[in-house]
Amino acid sequence: MVREPIKVSSIINGKKIDTERTLPRENPTHPDEVVGYAPINTREETIQAIDAAYNAFKEWAWSDVDDRIARMKRAIEKIKDSTDEIAELLSREHGKALYDSKGEIAISLMWMEFACDHVKEAVTPEIKEHENGRTIITFDPIGVVSAITPWNYPISLSTIKIAPALLTGNTMVLKPSPFAPLAVSRVCEIIADEFPPGVLNLVHGEAEVGVELTSNEKVAKIAFTGGTRTAKSIMKAASETIKKMTLELGGNDAAIVLDSFDVNDERALRRMVISNFLTAGQICMIAKRVYVHRSIYDKFVEKYIEAANKWIRLGDPFNPDVTVGPVNNKNQVQYVRSLVEKAEKDGAKVIPLGQILNPELMEEGYFLQPTLVLEADFHADIVVEEQFGPTVPILPFDDEEQVIELHNESIYGLTSSVWGEEEHAIKVARRIEAGTTMINTAAVQGLDVRFPFGGVKQSGVGREYGVEGIKSYTETHVINIPKSLELPYIPE
Ligand code: NAD
Repeated sequence: MVREPIKVSSIINGKKIDTERTLPRENPTHPDEVVGYAPINTREETIQAIDAAYNAFKEWAWSDVDDRIARMKRAIEKIKDSTDEIAELLSREHGKALYDSKGEIAISLMWMEFACDHVKEAVTPEIKEHENGRTIITFDPIGVVSAITPWNYPISLSTIKIAPALLTGNTMVLKPSPFAPLAVSRVCEIIADEFPPGVLNLVHGEAEVGVELTSNEKVAKIAFTGGTRTAKSIMKAASETIKKMTLELGGNDAAIVLDSFDVNDERALRRMVISNFLTAGQICMIAKRVYVHRSIYDKFVEKYIEAANKWIRLGDPFNPDVTVGPVNNKNQVQYVRSLVEKAEKDGAKVIPLGQILNPELMEEGYFLQPTLVLEADFHADIVVEEQFGPTVPILPFDDEEQVIELHNESIYGLTSSVWGEEEHAIKVARRIEAGTTMINTAAVQGLDVRFPFGGVKQSGVGREYGVEGIKSYTETHVINIPKSLELPYIPE
């Protein structure tokens, strides 16, 4: 059913602003259908939003933390009440299956609730009485935060930033991706309505807006999730004014299957398939290359294909039997297709996976049939690049030293997983260079908002989630009251 396109606004200083220029967002399942229009803000409007956040900060920084929590909790309740409507919009603009959109909202709410419950732990001053007097350590808000988010998990990757930033007394200007700008705008409207004007501002657009958000001298911190290449430009833009930064970037997360893995464990194989193909593989922490010990490789591949053919059901995101929808955009379809074609040309074996539930949509929408790539070279693009789509290479390894080296030679280190007997897997996990390593599960199935999340090497800087993620929106301020005011080695 084709609906009238919706229109979302930007939010500047508590007011909804419509722009002359707008950007249509198509439905990846039916690309001829425009789901809605997002504004294209100008540089001047972006500066207005930053100024609004800068002015609002003066009072908001000193607001009562209980008041901030109460406001966030009201927003949480309203988002909860609107889950069905927001999830439907997200599936239409993004392409992810409806259960997946609802899951994204559920994770967002879980995190927002955690942030409300733990913000006091993060900002309560520490008072130390010691032999040389007293020291008070406070955790103060930083200032205006520019938040820039990608299209794959637009709501959770925005609320992961909004909740801790506002709860700790910062103000924010958020810019979502033009590839999924609509549902997240609804969420921002709900949150912004609960807070004083200027505390949460929303702008839309591409490079012009992004460059202002990352170079304007009134911005104190950048919270960015997106590609590593974009992060490099952002670091350059931010260097003039030495901004604080949290960067959550790309990954090439590996799953390592040890010889102690039970290939007859159907639940574990299902978890592995989900960790490769949830959201059509478009998750930063999806397992993007799988290394399997040669002694169980053949059996593993056979059982994996069985599990994948059962769980992967490709089709319309609104078909309740569908587990995997289309890819979000045309560029991504072409990129993933080119990686698979190149691997095949270079001698790899490509095996289609899953059932196609809506064959009539395959040509119309941005669909890619999920594939398994066997016999690729260890250093083929499909193995070393972040494919961010529904394809995965499985490769055999001979010994653990070799697989640890293959894992760690990547420029990335976001998440990883080790599969096998628990203690054996933990031993290997300790040698892995990554921000998170999961045992016998991977990707969002092993995500826990109570603990810090982030990447090592070129997968990022800093951590989100956990109390550490809340604290990353604060500056440590030490107030020293020493008893002995003069240093003995300084002459009279
Ligand atoms: P992207 O880097 O292309 O875009 C991310 C955001 O940056 C968008 O809002 C975009 O408009 C904006 N942007 C583009 N150029 C900019 C500039 N010069 N200055 C400021 N902002 C600019 O990423 P994407 O394609 O939207 O998302 C996919 C990437 O995100 C993948 O690499 C994925 O791994 C990564 N990602 C990482 C995490 C994580 O937590 N580590 C989570 C999700 C996605």
